[in-house]
Amino acid sequence: MEIVAAKELDEVVGVVERARNEGRRLRAVGSGHSYSDIALSDGYLVSVDAMDQLIDVDRDAALVRVQAGIKLGELNRALDRHGLAMPSLGEIDKQTLAGAVATDTHGSGLRQGSLSDRVASLELVRADGTVDELDGDSLRAARIALGSLGVVTAVTLRCVPAFTLRHSERPVDLDDALASIGELGRHDHPGLLVFPYARRAVVIERDRVEGRPSPPPAARAWVEDILLKNHVVGLTSRLAGRVPAATPALTRALVRFARPSTRVDSSRKVFTGEVRFPVTSAEWGLPLESAAPAIEAVVSLFERERYPVAMPVLCRFGAPSDSYLSTAFERQTLYLEVLSHTSADADPMIAGVEGALGAFGARPHWAKRFGATAADLAPLYPAWDRFASERARLDPDGLFTNAWTERVLGASGAPDGEAA
Ligand SMILES: Cc1cc2nc3c(=O)[nH]c(=O)nc-3n(C[C@H](O)[C@H](O)[C@H](O)COP(=O)(O)OP(=O)(O)OC[C@H]3O[C@@H](n4cnc5c(N)ncnc54)[C@H](O)[C@@H]3O)c2cc1C
Repeated sequence: MEIVAAKELDEVVGVVERARNEGRRLRAVGSGHSYSDIALSDGYLVSVDAMDQLIDVDRDAALVRVQAGIKLGELNRALDRHGLAMPSLGEIDKQTLAGAVATDTHGSGLRQGSLSDRVASLELVRADGTVDELDGDSLRAARIALGSLGVVTAVTLRCVPAFTLRHSERPVDLDDALASIGELGRHDHPGLLVFPYARRAVVIERDRVEGRPSPPPAARAWVEDILLKNHVVGLTSRLAGRVPAATPALTRALVRFARPSTRVDSSRKVFTGEVRFPVTSAEWGLPLESAAPAIEAVVSLFERERYPVAMPVLCRFGAPSDSYLSTAFERQTLYLEVLSHTSADADPMIAGVEGALGAFGARPHWAKRFGATAADLAPLYPAWDRFASERARLDPDGLFTNAWTERVLGASGAPDGEAA
C-alpha cells in the first residue's frame, strides 16, 4: 500500500491516473475516524489533509467554498471569524470535511439534515482523471459516496449566520422519557442518553437563543466535560469490560453522577466536545415513528443478554434527506447509537442490536460498525439502484473499491446490490 499526501488538485489527478495505468486500486482517507475498514486500501491511499484552506466566503449568501481536507474544528473556527456557522454538527470536530460528508456525519434535529445535506456543490476527481464540479441533482449520489465515486477536493457549503445555543440536560426515568419523546423531538437539537440497566435517561434539549454566548467558567466546564463525561464514563466503562458481571451496578452508579445542568454558548462549542477514551460505535437510522419501541427493544436486549457495556445508548433525530445513500433518505429519523469501551468485546452487542433493529427497517451508519451486506442494504434504500448506476458511470472499473465496499456496496457496475 502506498500513501500519497496530496497538496494540490494536480497531485490528486496524477495519483488517480497512475493507479489506473498500473491497474491498482485507490481509496481516499480523511482523519481515519471511521470505526470500520471503510478507508483501507490495498493499492493507493490518498489523503487531502493538506488541502485545508478556505477558498471563498460569500457572507451575504452564507455560501463558503473550502478545500475538502480541512478539519471540522478549523472550518468551524474559520466560519465563526466570518460570522457564519454550520446549522448542526456531530459530537466531535476532528474529522476532515470530505470524510465527514462522505459518510453522512450528522448531529441532531428534525429540522436539520446532516453535514452532507449542506453541500451545495463539490469538486470530484473521477476514475478517468477528469475533474467534475457536481451540483444540483448529481449531488444526490455524490454527497454520501463513501469514497466510491472519486476523490473530493473542494466543497461549497450552505452555512447559516453564527448563532447561540442554550443546552440543558436532566436525568429522568426512562418511561417518562419514552412517553414524551415526541415533545423532545420538537427542540432544535434534541438528544436522549438511555442507560439500559438502570431504566434511566438523560434528556438533552438544545435550542437557539438570542444574544451572545456566556460560556461557563473554565473549572466548571472541565468538571462537566472532561472529569464526568470523559474520566468517569471512561473509567466506569473500562471496569465493565474487565468485570462484566458488575456492569448493571456500574451503570446505576454512573447514572447517579448525572445532574441537571445548563449552559449558553456558541453553537460550535455546544455541539462538539472531546472523547478522551478508546471507544467503538455502531448506529442506525430508524423511522421516527418507531423510536419508542426500538429503544425498548434495545433496552430489553441489554437486560436479557447482559452485555458488558455501561455506556449509554445515544438517541438523536434527523430530517429527511434526498441523498440516495443517506440513512435518513426520505424519512424523519431517529438515530440510535450503541457505544462501547474497547476493553469490552463489543461484537456480540453490535450483532444483537443489529438483529433487534432489523424489524424496524434500520439503516446502519456507514462510518460505524455493522454486519449487513449489499444484499441486506439494497432493499432499505429506495434509490439504491440510482446510486449504483452513478457509480457504474463514474467508476466503471472499480478503481475506488476495497474489501469493505465489495461487501457493503457490491461490485462497481452491479446495480442490483449483489455483492462481488
Ligand atoms: C469519537 C467519534 C465521534 C463521532 N461522532 C459522530 C457524530 O456525532 N455523528 C456522526 O454521524 N458520526 C460521528 N462519528 C463518525 C465520523 O464522523 C465519521 O467516521 C467520519 O467519516 C470520519 O471522517 P474522517 O475524516 O476521519 O474520514 P475517514 O474515516 O478517514 O474516511 C471516511 C470515508 O470518507 C471517505 N473520504 C475521505 N476523504 C475523502 C475524499 N477526499 N474524497 C472522497 N472520499 C473521502 C473515505 O474513503 C471513507 O469512505 C464519530 C467518530 C468518532 C471516532
